[in-house]
Amino acid sequence: MSIEEKLLLNKFVVDKIPHITLKREFCSQCDLKPCLHVCPVQNFKLEKGEIVFDWAGCLECGSCRIVCKSLGRGAVEWNYPRGGFGIVYRYG
Ligand code: SF4
Ligand code: SF4
Repeated sequence: MSIEEKLLLNKFVVDKIPHITLKREFCSQCDLKPCLHVCPVQNFKLEKGEIVFDWAGCLECGSCRIVCKSLGRGAVEWNYPRGGFGIVYRYG
């Protein structure tokens, strides 16, 4: 079974309140933009030179928080989703 197939088994209860937010003014000063490379589900994208982020489908791995703090500009404000929301792992 591929990684993509395993991810499709998961269930997401997406909260309308984001559990991850960005201070976008910091992103414009971030040269490396490492978040684009570490998110396993590509929730960070670059559109017209600006970072676009969508928290739906987040695996709650925390990689963006770590890499933003260590290599980026510290723009990521990270929390787990509220109770009852977020990913429900169904495999492994
Ligand atoms: S690493 Fe952090 S500061 Fe840099 S673009 Fe990504 S979210 Fe913004
Ligand atoms: S916590 Fe993981 S899956 Fe969620 S947005 Fe950050 S890097 Fe992507």
